[in-house]
Amino acid sequence: MVNNVLPLRPAVPADPIDEIAGLGRWSMVRAGAHMSLSTVALRLLGADGAAGGRWAGAVVAEDMAGLAAVLADIGEHGTAADCEFRVIEPEQGIRWLRLQALAAEGRPVACGLLTDITAVKRAAMRERFNFALTRYLIGTDTFDEAVYKIIHLVCEELGWDWGAFWARERGGGVETLRCRHVWHTADRDYSAFRSAAAALAIRPGEGPVGQTWLTGQAQWVDTGAAQAGMARVHAAQRCGLQSGFFFPVTYAAADGSVHCAGVLEFFSAAPRQREAQLPGLAESISALIAQTAQRMVQQERVRVLAQTDELTGLFNRAHFHVLLDAACEAGGEFGLLYIDLDQFKPINDGFGHAAGNEVLRQFAGRLRQLAPAGAVAARLGGDEFALMAPAGLGEAALDALAGAVLEAARTRFSYMGHELSVSASIGIGLFPRHASDTAQLLHAADAAMYVSKRNGRNLVSYFSPDGDTQQCAAAAQLLMLSALQDALQRDEFFLEYQPICDAQDGSVVALEALIRWRKADGSVVPPDQFIPVAEQSRLIVLIGRWVIEQVCRDLPLLRASLPGVRVHVNMAAPEFLDSDLPRELVAITSAAGIDPGQLCLELTEGVVMQRIEKAVPIMTELVRLGFEIGLDDFGMGYSSLSLLKALPVSSLKIDRYFLQGVPHQRDDCAVVRSIIDLGRNMKLRVIAEGVETDAHLGFLRQFGCALIQGYLPGRPMPLAGLLAWNQLLSR
Ligand code: C2E
Ligand code: CA
Ligand code: CA
Repeated sequence: MVNNVLPLRPAVPADPIDEIAGLGRWSMVRAGAHMSLSTVALRLLGADGAAGGRWAGAVVAEDMAGLAAVLADIGEHGTAADCEFRVIEPEQGIRWLRLQALAAEGRPVACGLLTDITAVKRAAMRERFNFALTRYLIGTDTFDEAVYKIIHLVCEELGWDWGAFWARERGGGVETLRCRHVWHTADRDYSAFRSAAAALAIRPGEGPVGQTWLTGQAQWVDTGAAQAGMARVHAAQRCGLQSGFFFPVTYAAADGSVHCAGVLEFFSAAPRQREAQLPGLAESISALIAQTAQRMVQQERVRVLAQTDELTGLFNRAHFHVLLDAACEAGGEFGLLYIDLDQFKPINDGFGHAAGNEVLRQFAGRLRQLAPAGAVAARLGGDEFALMAPAGLGEAALDALAGAVLEAARTRFSYMGHELSVSASIGIGLFPRHASDTAQLLHAADAAMYVSKRNGRNLVSYFSPDGDTQQCAAAAQLLMLSALQDALQRDEFFLEYQPICDAQDGSVVALEALIRWRKADGSVVPPDQFIPVAEQSRLIVLIGRWVIEQVCRDLPLLRASLPGVRVHVNMAAPEFLDSDLPRELVAITSAAGIDPGQLCLELTEGVVMQRIEKAVPIMTELVRLGFEIGLDDFGMGYSSLSLLKALPVSSLKIDRYFLQGVPHQRDDCAVVRSIIDLGRNMKLRVIAEGVETDAHLGFLRQFGCALIQGYLPGRPMPLAGLLAWNQLLSR
């Protein structure tokens, strides 16, 4: 042994600088291998310094051989050396020392330094360990998994055979620690120890685990030395486990208070010396677990937030899609209710957004209550909700569920003393009958919901393919409406003028203004494609006003080259039935300096007849103001003769549909002839529209039709084109 080979010689005198630096010095007479140590060196080694004493008594047994070999080498050859070894003392536990020797070949005495490198060692180990742990924990997304991995790593890296986490659990009002997350080596049977652990519910202070929990201090256990209070001691012995180490997993909460999340325990089959590696790491392992736990809680919070609708607490659209995907994938049969609240906007508009939000929240609560086990309720956005029924719920039950949702929507909502009422339109899509995936299913249920809306709301409709077509049209209409709005703002509309000519001499008597829409891409959209859509909203009124204004701007030019010409302007029902119309028309014409008599407002026979009580006063007013009114598309059979007499109109335009049959279809010829007669009798000008051929013209002339309009006399043309065309004709 080194102790015998290197007896201690009198100490090297103490040096205050060495004291400060913690620098130990040693020297050795090579011949006798006699060791001299400075006071600092003696202290580092934990030796008392008595001459002939055992200076290496605290060196850890496993490191002794290595140290002895190095010293022997120095003694024999005087080689330079640098080695590390551990010393262990009851007070300070394990420390790492570094012994350095200068080369001493040819010199009788070798000397060198002895330093304490424990801090550096621990830091390096902690870093290495943390690095390994961090790498290990990447991709771990549950706390349980993380703890298991940490235990596993500690055991593998630091040579423990058993590791377990004791987690806090609350049951029956008392808090206990229960064993969770066990990892152990595979080389022996731990089942007895495992079941002993599983059976325990440890209270604070009970056994080493309970002690650790209560005091927050790490504990050591030697299963060989009969330990009172360790219930598992026999099982541990039977499994061959000898040393145990316990330490608390603590974390500091946001308010600075320290909490204990549980206790970690490690056992090894080989007897272990206290303070062997683990204590230095206990804190960082504990911190890591605590950190992981907090990260998991945060992740969970983020995950929940990302899946829920903030206002109602229901699932949001994105997550609902994910759940629908999963349900479709699972392949069961289930129904999807698409729920849209009716009359919700008036609440928002009338009582404010807070009221609207309250209705949504209350409705969501009712929906949650109604949802049968296994159902999923979601808010898709705005006032749209969805309910995914559990798989296997039959159609009768689905009907009942939908009925209950209708009822829940109809039940009054209260907001600050107000009673607010809405209703719901519900569409149901069935998987897999109506759809083969999430997108189709949502589409089907949504389409069915629109059918409910269209049929008067507060209704439930099942998806049907017909409804789907209507739904597409409705969506296309919505798109078109917003495109039209933009078109108006970007000034993408323009007018063409089609001549209305004297049937006998072909002179231009009037022009019909026809609107076109030139899209940004240069394509021109004909009016039948967008006017009917515009008529679905107030947009038609704005478009109508634009037409009149444009006509008023063009009229001076038109009349300069076509003296006395009148312009016919088409009027859609909504713009015409607006009682503001007369006033607004006067405002526009007088602003432009146009005499109202230069305009003829064309109304279709249908519009006038359907709302006769509203139409007649407006017509009368317009005529009083000097405007002319003509009946367009005449002959479709709406007007009775007596009614026609009462209308203040000055012209009739024969629908171009009838001209198509002229002169071969007897019925069409009869209609055209009788309209011409009617006009003559009632002293109304008659215009035949859709005059395309000489045969048309011949027939009309023969029966005395005064005016013609159609591709034969002239197609609709832009202003410049019309003026050029007219010039050409008059040459
Ligand atoms: P409409 O009032 O019956 O207008 C006459 C339509 O017949 C025009 O179609 C014109 O181009 C077409 N046409 C003229 N001569 C012939 C012919 O010989 N053969 C054939 N096959 N067609 C002929 P357009 O310009 O496509 O307008 C279609 C409809 O759009 C109009 O029918 C009118 O109801 C509506 N419209 C056009 N401009 C306006 C407008 O400024 N305001 C409103 N509210 N509606 C408009
Ligand atoms: Ca017309
Ligand atoms: Ca017409």
